[in-house]
Amino acid sequence: MLKQYSSVDAVAPIGSVRELATDLAGPIFLPGQPGYTDEAECFDTSVRHHPALIVGAANADDVVTAVRFARDHGLGVAVQATGHGVALPADGALLVSTRRMSGFSVDPERRTVRLEAGVLWRDVIRASARYGLAPLNGSAPFVGAVSYTLGGGIGVLARRYGYAADHVREIEVVTADGERRTASEEANPDLFWALRGGKGNFGVVTALEAELVGVSRIYGGGLFFPADSISDVLHFYRGWVTDVPDELSSSFVMMPWPDVPEVPEQLRGRFALHMRLCYLGSPDDGARIIQPLREIATPLLDTVTDIPYTQVGTIHNDPPAPGSYHVNNFQLTHLDHDAVEAILRLVGPESDGAIGIEIRHLGGALAREPRVLNAVARTTAQFQLYSGGVLGIGADEAVYAGHDRVIDTLSPWSSGTRMLNFMAGVAHTDPADVRQAFTAEAYARLVELKTAYDPRNMFRFNHNIPPTPERNGSRSHRISPSRLSTSDSSGLRRAGG
Ligand SMILES: Cc1cc2nc3c(=O)[nH]c(=O)nc-3n(C[C@H](O)[C@H](O)[C@H](O)COP(=O)(O)OP(=O)(O)OC[C@H]3O[C@@H](n4cnc5c(N)ncnc54)[C@H](O)[C@@H]3O)c2cc1C
Repeated sequence: MLKQYSSVDAVAPIGSVRELATDLAGPIFLPGQPGYTDEAECFDTSVRHHPALIVGAANADDVVTAVRFARDHGLGVAVQATGHGVALPADGALLVSTRRMSGFSVDPERRTVRLEAGVLWRDVIRASARYGLAPLNGSAPFVGAVSYTLGGGIGVLARRYGYAADHVREIEVVTADGERRTASEEANPDLFWALRGGKGNFGVVTALEAELVGVSRIYGGGLFFPADSISDVLHFYRGWVTDVPDELSSSFVMMPWPDVPEVPEQLRGRFALHMRLCYLGSPDDGARIIQPLREIATPLLDTVTDIPYTQVGTIHNDPPAPGSYHVNNFQLTHLDHDAVEAILRLVGPESDGAIGIEIRHLGGALAREPRVLNAVARTTAQFQLYSGGVLGIGADEAVYAGHDRVIDTLSPWSSGTRMLNFMAGVAHTDPADVRQAFTAEAYARLVELKTAYDPRNMFRFNHNIPPTPERNGSRSHRISPSRLSTSDSSGLRRAGG
């Protein structure tokens, strides 16, 4: 039975909330009710949502009903699948929780997958592998596939195939007016362009269809180098990596490994550099290409070998447990001698360990335009830097100070660009930060489209692209969504028959 709760009551009469509950196939949760806290929980526990109500959407119709309810009662709408990439707390909003929308179907003939909003990559990886296919997932298989893709999406296949967003064929979305639209190269192409890169700013995506690639095995794993060799390895790496084929991706982190049984014996209690490598081709060719790295120093542990793509998550081994993090990201034009020395001072064996840095090699297809253009910025920066520190263990000030040091120290190499997907937590939700994920031209077009599709910024609990503010009750739109066609789910081609 529904009780009257002030936060909902303030925006909607309890009668209409009761009506909403009966219109939905999925559950609703109000503050104080069983299930509310669990449903609002984020993987990144630095953010805590206090929504006015949560709709546990079971299908696209539920999303339409939820968005229309929010529209009619002047509520903002937040969306969450797993809470891995949450930006702002959804306080006072209607939170659409998509975790029940976990259906997907692989079409081996067309080499596509149709994903519902709450699908995790790990399920798609497993199902695609049965046909010798792979999705363009990221480092962590437990991340939500749809949001990852809307934010661009780079994984170990990205230098060869580009962003996950480059391989989307169709998107089904509920926009701020409560309409269900199909976006593709042919249908609502401007919305299609904006959604692929603009992430949650243009509506709640209920499903998308993406291409799969013919990858079943990879030569991948990690080389773990001891503290006294890290300087030699990184100085070698910065030159070596500029000449590797697009089929090879690499990234590195360095850290003190805890002395616990879960950590391989060779690393326990030691400081080591973890060089992650993935080659898309024969193991012999992969071994030949990375041989110089193996020779520069003797690794403590070498796990690089021929593996099925289903084990791709073992390359990065991202932590699967929720935690409270303070993160930042920006891109580096290149790595030269001084940059490597600066990185060693910041996070090397002699550093205070307050924060960690991951550096991923970019280039290849990430610098090239896709066949169907989207809002994701092509980058000529050679590296993606991601820094992160754990909050809530009594060292928050050191983490914040560590981040400031990273930004100050590495600013000479910063390209002034960021990746939307690697912004998480409330620290980097300033529209000025978000702007850096796009070219100036793309950002201007995104603002124009946001103004047309979501003039009241209903979808603002995200890495927000604010619409042009209303002046004297009027707003100049160059594009009107009402001129664009709407469609039901039949407009989205079904994969797998
Ligand atoms: C451990 C870890 C590893 C990662 N590795 C990579 C990587 O290798 N490459 C990469 O590119 N990114 C990576 N990311 C970033 C990740 O792709 C983003 O954080 C992504 O947004 C997470 O999606 P989610 O659904 O899991 O998270 P959520 O927090 O549920 O969603 C994030 C945001 O996306 C929006 N959103 C979610 N669902 C929808 C929807 N259906 N419609 C519209 N908007 C929606 C909302 O604004 C929401 O706040 C990683 C993140 C983590 C924590």
